[in-house]
Amino acid sequence: MATKRDYYEVLGVERKASIEDLKKAYRRLAVKYHPDKNPGDPTAEEKFKEIGEAYEVLMDPNKRAAYDQFGHAAFSPGAGAGRGGGGGFHDPFDIFREVFGGMAGEGSGSIFDQLFGTGASPRDRSGRQRGSDLRYDLQITLEEAAFGTEREIEILKHDTCTRCNATGAEAGSKATTCPTCHGRGQVVTSRGFFQVSQTCPRCRGTGQVIERPCRDCQGEGRLEKRSRIKLKIPAGIDDGAKLRSMRNGEAGVRGGQSGDLYVVIHIREHEIFSRDEDDLFCEVPIAFASAALGGELKVPTLQGQAMLKIPPGTQSGTQFRLRGYGITNIDSKTKGDLRVRVLVEVPTRLNGEQRKKLEEFAASCGDDNTPIHRTFFDKAKDFFR
Ligand SMILES: [Zn+2]
Ligand SMILES: [Zn+2]
Repeated sequence: MATKRDYYEVLGVERKASIEDLKKAYRRLAVKYHPDKNPGDPTAEEKFKEIGEAYEVLMDPNKRAAYDQFGHAAFSPGAGAGRGGGGGFHDPFDIFREVFGGMAGEGSGSIFDQLFGTGASPRDRSGRQRGSDLRYDLQITLEEAAFGTEREIEILKHDTCTRCNATGAEAGSKATTCPTCHGRGQVVTSRGFFQVSQTCPRCRGTGQVIERPCRDCQGEGRLEKRSRIKLKIPAGIDDGAKLRSMRNGEAGVRGGQSGDLYVVIHIREHEIFSRDEDDLFCEVPIAFASAALGGELKVPTLQGQAMLKIPPGTQSGTQFRLRGYGITNIDSKTKGDLRVRVLVEVPTRLNGEQRKKLEEFAASCGDDNTPIHRTFFDKAKDFFR
């Protein structure tokens, strides 16, 4: 595991920072690195998580004291210092919602939605839960990878329940604060000297109970359904690339934010071309006479075909480069090349006349006409003595 950065450093505050300083620092950084504002940038998400974790620890006086004394070791699994045991941290998105969502009045759009325009209906945060991320493996052809494509895929996943509009409640029925835990989602029981906090059994931690749960989704606000999702595959994508389709993962519980869908690209092997980063490579057979005489050779390209000039006396295995006939780089948009290796083919069936002519041709050939032959036999002459 990589070494962890100091929590104070992560938030860019001094060690004696006040709660207000921490809040200010968190707000500024969390908005800057929120994945919704940085699509396709995995480092932003890492940063966002790091910020959330640092904030969570430093805002809690007990955790902060433990951290000041023991550093990150205070929260490593098995360490005794962490209160509540274990090193588990909350979902960074929950922390974010807590900080930002809590500022807006119920019913109106929260800061979160104003910032990113997610359109998720902001209600009391209790009961809402972010949906899981999903992974989908997609096979595409080399042509699709080179030129980009649009695909529609069908996946089975939890999707928003349309009967209750993700609220989990039947029409006319409302969610009310859970009477058992008074909306906290946790109940505290005493066991000897210890007080144990447990998930509320009545509301299962959501803090809310629904009078009459939706008949279709049993109060979850989401249902398993086949969903069709449109994907845009950018030109130049490489094998193994991971595309993030925002909010197309599983729907959240009771209107919680949806997870993301990660699409992993697999490029099918091509009959003719192989790929080396942005370059394409292929082998083209060429007749013995054409290689000797030189001329123009028709070669396949991903776009169709191109003409390649072959100089007289081309040897088998010679590689030529067709500039710009490769793959357009996904970032820089520069074009790779097509590398063509010619393979000289020896005729397998000769009729009488051809055979005679070739024998005459062979007889007329001097040593100086076959450069590879000559250098080889120069080196090997000791063996043939
Ligand atoms: Zn429903
Ligand atoms: Zn409860």
